Amino acid sequence: MSNSGTAEVLIPRSLFLIEDFNNLNIDIEDLCSVSVTWEDGIVSELQPLTSRDTKPKNILFPRFVEAHSHIDKSFTWEEFPNLRSNYDGALSVNLKEHKTRTTKKVLQRAEKSLNLAIKNGYRAIRSHIDTYQDQGDDVWKELFTLQKKYSSKLQLQFVALSPLEFWQTENGINLAKNFSINKGILGGVVVPPFEKKKVSKLLSTMLLLAEKYKLEIDLHIDESITAPGAGVKVLLEVIDKLKSQVPITCSHLSSILYLEENKILDLGKKIADKNIKVVALPLTNFWLLNNESKITSLKRPVAPIKQLHKSLVDVSIGSDNVQDPWYPFGDFDPFYMMSCSIPMLQLNPWERITLSSIFLAPSRLLNLSWDGIIKKGCPADFVILNGERWADVFSSNLKRKVYIKGDLYC
Ligand SMILES: [Zn+2]
Repeated sequence: MSNSGTAEVLIPRSLFLIEDFNNLNIDIEDLCSVSVTWEDGIVSELQPLTSRDTKPKNILFPRFVEAHSHIDKSFTWEEFPNLRSNYDGALSVNLKEHKTRTTKKVLQRAEKSLNLAIKNGYRAIRSHIDTYQDQGDDVWKELFTLQKKYSSKLQLQFVALSPLEFWQTENGINLAKNFSINKGILGGVVVPPFEKKKVSKLLSTMLLLAEKYKLEIDLHIDESITAPGAGVKVLLEVIDKLKSQVPITCSHLSSILYLEENKILDLGKKIADKNIKVVALPLTNFWLLNNESKITSLKRPVAPIKQLHKSLVDVSIGSDNVQDPWYPFGDFDPFYMMSCSIPMLQLNPWERITLSSIFLAPSRLLNLSWDGIIKKGCPADFVILNGERWADVFSSNLKRKVYIKGDLYC
């Protein structure tokens, strides 16, 4: 049967479960030599390879989960470049793009993105979709059709990314109703400078709407170099006031890095206490924020992953934009994302907490039925690379095979 097979591979220790744990052969980079067998698309056996066996020349990862992307605008850079490479420039070019946007164009970009993502090793993606008042109303119908079309290969989740004001309009309320059937997520942007009272009121309206239709919220919040943590502080106040239980994701949360260390930890505890999940997006943050044409500055805020982990916050690392006004590079490749962000963030790939942010936290964020741990009974959804060490994973000369439910996809 083509969806059955066996492979001798290295797997990072934190990404699999094995019964015969005592006989594991683990190298200094925490890669373990294992034999994996799968039948009918499901992992049926995991056995340790002993030190007498030759070290496998392949590394196996579970297929990846993208916690944050924008498939509606990917590959628009050529037509809508932001050559100043800053936040304001990106926003103004993005708004120009809206003027020429059609459902057909959105679908073309989305399909191109999804095909690349599957080929490169993703199994699920959460994508934000720009949402605004005068948008054609067929785009959501088509996007949910696309979601079904790809569902055997990739799980797709949508967030309607709109100005907060949208959720108090008739169109916003109708979309929330639609999302209660199609399982969409309410999105928005909370970035200073803002009027605290106004934002507090808008967030309240949004939270109540989400509660009414049993929806989640995912906000672009504090993607900024000013007013550290201003957005998340208002959000926490609103949650307290409403005693809201709505599941919330804070994407970016970059500016809190500028707070004093103990304030970051305190804020982190509050975020963890409210069960708010965080998505760190180092690529766009490092590219756009504090981008000065005449000085090289390393003062570039990104969600402080290590401090947030210390406060027990569930943090995922995502890619964000691909070849659009916000970020001119990338191609829906999880290894590009890892190669860039792991050195940037000084995270050790041989540590459990790092791999958790890349594989396990995103699976929890998207509420996927499989947590991403390779074990007996899990889907044979793998990316197998030629390589023996982490340096081979972060290499420009990557050779990979993608398996979907046990079948070699490419
Ligand atoms: Zn984003």
